[in-house]
Amino acid sequence: MEKINQIYVNGEFITPHGTETFDLISPVTNQKTGEVVLGDETDTKLAIAAAKEAFKSFRKTTVAERVTYLEHLHEAVSKKEEELVKIMVSEYGGTLKFSKASVKNAIDSFTNMIEVLKTFEFQRIVGKSKVRLESLGVVGIITPWNASNSFICNKFATAIAAGCTVVVKPSEMSAAQTQLLLHCFHEAGLPKGVFNLVNGLGNVVGAEITRNPDVAKISFTGSTLTGKIIAKGAIDTMKRVTLELGGKSPNLILDDADLEKAIPAAVFGAYMNSGQACIAPTRLLVPENKLEEVNALAKAAAALVQVGNPMNEQTHVGPMVSIKQYERVQDYIRTGMEEGATLLAGGTGKPDGLQDGNFVKATIFTNVRNDMRIAREEIFGPVLSIITYKTEEEAIAIANDTTYGLSAYISSTDLSHANRVAEQLEAGRVVINEFKHDPLAPFGGFKQSGIGREFGVYGLETYLETKAILD
Ligand code: NAD
Repeated sequence: MEKINQIYVNGEFITPHGTETFDLISPVTNQKTGEVVLGDETDTKLAIAAAKEAFKSFRKTTVAERVTYLEHLHEAVSKKEEELVKIMVSEYGGTLKFSKASVKNAIDSFTNMIEVLKTFEFQRIVGKSKVRLESLGVVGIITPWNASNSFICNKFATAIAAGCTVVVKPSEMSAAQTQLLLHCFHEAGLPKGVFNLVNGLGNVVGAEITRNPDVAKISFTGSTLTGKIIAKGAIDTMKRVTLELGGKSPNLILDDADLEKAIPAAVFGAYMNSGQACIAPTRLLVPENKLEEVNALAKAAAALVQVGNPMNEQTHVGPMVSIKQYERVQDYIRTGMEEGATLLAGGTGKPDGLQDGNFVKATIFTNVRNDMRIAREEIFGPVLSIITYKTEEEAIAIANDTTYGLSAYISSTDLSHANRVAEQLEAGRVVINEFKHDPLAPFGGFKQSGIGREFGVYGLETYLETKAILD
């Protein structure tokens, strides 16, 4: 049984001052696999102090030096690619396919930032003035469990590119994944104090990062609820915040879409990362006169979805990360039935033969109205809602009738038609036909899906402070 009893401060693995422990539980078997000793406020203050000290010299590094550090990080993380995939599957329960893609994204974060640095202008002339984009300071990085190392790598790579130092607080449920990543970062040989990490609870370590006056910015990925707590706390010291929060993304199947292609893709898309994805297209908007055909295609697609052991290459949907998350998804499935939606596939309970782990049946509701809770709230499990529209205008109105605005998806055989619709959607990313990813394009939410953007130039700018010099 693994006991994780180390945090990383000022270039060293140290035993935390905190003594409380948190059990690590396999989502496949619900057996305890290890435990992590949680850091406390003292540990967090120590890590912040180390980052503050390191910032004094790190802010002065040249772009060429930062590129070298990013190259070392890339090399060190790449070497452990296979192990990082394995541990993501075993600790989190991510499917093998998703975990491979997620670790690849983590590794690519470093080269993406090198790419951005090639042309980024830290000094510009605006009007008659010199404008300098300067490193912000110590950045607090707080991350969730659903793609832990990928979030940490992306945020850390951006901080390095900007000349910032960091203190990371990962999800306590990702301690084993984080430990392996930490060893990669240690091997990369960065100056002491540039990277610090404290395992711990949100209301202890996260809260200290939020209130500490020596933290200049917080980059947070997680739920909208926690994002609001952090934003409220951060305002006392006027910290900059980047918040990547929840979503309830619409998937618009336009009248001219090829249903045979679009509907199966929509079903599998909704189940990306076992449904535990902030960008999952969970509201499927379809023309009312095509509902029967859509239902038949969606049901057939759901029958092909393999729920099961995440280690298996064929598995599409693995277990929910925890019993709590499993129960939450079950509650929503019951709610959908009580609200009068029609169950087209799946339902409550575990799939046959999968009684031990946190497995949920691949579920689809049809005849869903957009005012039902299952259409408004983020479920974070493999549950898709089919909603009909009469006109394209109504489809756009339904798509935008949500407190969220992270992603939106459109299927159409006419690209200019899809683009016209895309311009009317309130979402930080609109993806047309197939599930594409662009790591250099900005990523982030409209409305309650967040504040600010990550990735590429837009991401880098949020780690910098703007100074105009009028001489
Ligand atoms: P969460 O908000 O519960 O926790 C996220 C992190 O915040 C964890 O490290 C947690 O310990 C910490 N935290 C909790 N309370 C805190 C507090 N009071 N102060 C400071 N930190 C605190 O989210 P989760 O359950 O780990 O992850 C799922 C959520 O993350 C979903 O809502 C999902 O949509 C969201 N998410 C968003 C994105 C995005 O890019 N927009 C990506 C993935 C996940």
